[in-house]
Amino acid sequence: MSLENREDHLANESPSEPREPHYAVDMQRASDYLKYLKKYPRSKQICICGHTVASHHYSTVVGYNCKPNNHFCPCERLDPVYFASNANHFKRSTHGPGMKHALALGITSLLASGSSGEWLIRVKCMYPDCKNLEILPAPLSKDRRIVGKPSNTNVLLCREHIIEFGGNLI
Ligand SMILES: [Zn+2]
Ligand SMILES: [Zn+2]
Ligand SMILES: [Zn+2]
Repeated sequence: MSLENREDHLANESPSEPREPHYAVDMQRASDYLKYLKKYPRSKQICICGHTVASHHYSTVVGYNCKPNNHFCPCERLDPVYFASNANHFKRSTHGPGMKHALALGITSLLASGSSGEWLIRVKCMYPDCKNLEILPAPLSKDRRIVGKPSNTNVLLCREHIIEFGGNLI
């Protein structure tokens, strides 16, 4: 069967399939996403850097800038991982992994105040094959070392991997 004939054959099989560029957003998935946004408004979604989605501003020069308060966060990836019923707790600076990370400081402050939150992702080590169970946020440098200051990249890692990458967990 020639290619032309085969395309005709396929077209006959599914006559509703448009042959032109067309709007392809799936209605079911899109309305599910609308429901998700209604339940978890973006203003209260917390990026893995520990600050709200709204703290991030796009700049054509450097990509994202995050400015949670009067300090600057070099977060380059807008990666919402947590939902906070009160986002005011997420304005701290990172000064290390684990409890010293802005995400942990925010969640601790949120829960201690009696407000609630929930993870938007499955909490696991960034290494897909890692089976370790104790997961913590960590600022990661470009050469994959854990740093004691705000970083462009923030990840979830198991305790063992944080220590392996030079992280100081106290
Ligand atoms: Zn961020
Ligand atoms: Zn940030
Ligand atoms: Zn791990």
